[in-house]
Amino acid sequence: MSDRFRAVVLEEADGKVTAAVSTVTEEDLPDGDVTVDVSHSTLNYKDGLILNGLGRLVRDYPHVPGIDFAGTVARSSSERYREGDRVILTGWRVGEARWGGYAERARVEAGWLVKCPDELSNERAMAVGTAGFTAMLAVMALEEAGLSPVGGGVLVTGANGGLGGVAVAVLSRLGYRVTASTGRMELAEGLRSLGAAEVIDRAELAEAPERPLLSERWAGCVDAVGGTTLAAILPQIAREGAVASCGLAGGSELRTTVIPFLLRGVKLLGIDSVMCPYERRRVAWRRLARDLPAETLSGLTSVVGLEDVIGLGRRILDGDIRGRIVVDVRRRPE
Ligand code: NDP
Repeated sequence: MSDRFRAVVLEEADGKVTAAVSTVTEEDLPDGDVTVDVSHSTLNYKDGLILNGLGRLVRDYPHVPGIDFAGTVARSSSERYREGDRVILTGWRVGEARWGGYAERARVEAGWLVKCPDELSNERAMAVGTAGFTAMLAVMALEEAGLSPVGGGVLVTGANGGLGGVAVAVLSRLGYRVTASTGRMELAEGLRSLGAAEVIDRAELAEAPERPLLSERWAGCVDAVGGTTLAAILPQIAREGAVASCGLAGGSELRTTVIPFLLRGVKLLGIDSVMCPYERRRVAWRRLARDLPAETLSGLTSVVGLEDVIGLGRRILDGDIRGRIVVDVRRRPE
């Protein structure tokens, strides 16, 4: 590949951030020991914030967004990777503090990458992406907290989002009875085909309950929503159950009581995919290759080009995207 390549570039003027597909050169890339020919990236909620200049996540412009990518190593000065290795990057503030994956080429530190499992194509790895990887970290945390399919049902919130959809698919594959909570009941059939046994309207969880404990309804939960929804869930978790708190699509504030923790031994587990250590990343990707059925993922995924992702960045903030958006960075506009 020549040293000039296409990328989504964000510019800031008068406090306003604009995005366009432009040509950049290899010299523009940040320092790092591995240069990757990127083939696919994805659109995550955080990318939506960054594309729209929100959340104070990016401090320096011009900036190339894209918080995750898959591709092939073009050059490496690290012993861990060789030219031709297929690799995945999620997290480490790539796409926020560093240039990211909405580009045909990226340069990062070797310690941030993992090898892509042979069973996953680059496109499929990005259909999983940061959202799916985080969903698997949540499942692993729930298992480590003692959850098992015989222990009772599991709730997934934000189920029609990227993280939620992968969580529903993985948990049902593992044998859990999954309740999916969504604000888009018209998409309930899609959630059932992912494996949800029951679909509930998120309005049921929209208000914090007045009592600190309610009937025990679920043994565990993967929560992508946070806020009042999380406050409504905690009093309904069964004895010794656990909630993996992954997201804040509904709000970052949590007003609750400690009663479910003290009287039922409920555990609240924080999930951070960004700084997740290498060994745990490797395990999570291996598990995703094994426990996430390929056919469920293809039903969840749409593939777009670099030009399309700019407009979709607004829609993901409006909660108007279903499932996963994969960005084929080499796709040219028709
Ligand atoms: P998506 O935008 O794909 O999904 C979010 C889903 O949340 C929506 O589809 C919607 O689901 C639901 N939702 C949106 N707004 C509201 C609201 N106001 N009240 C209740 N529910 C709402 O995002 P992702 O799946 O990529 O990410 C989900 C969350 O997880 C985000 O907050 C993201 O920042 C966070 N995240 C955290 C990571 C970590 O390391 N902890 C890593 C990756 C993501 P439905 O239509 O079904 O109601």
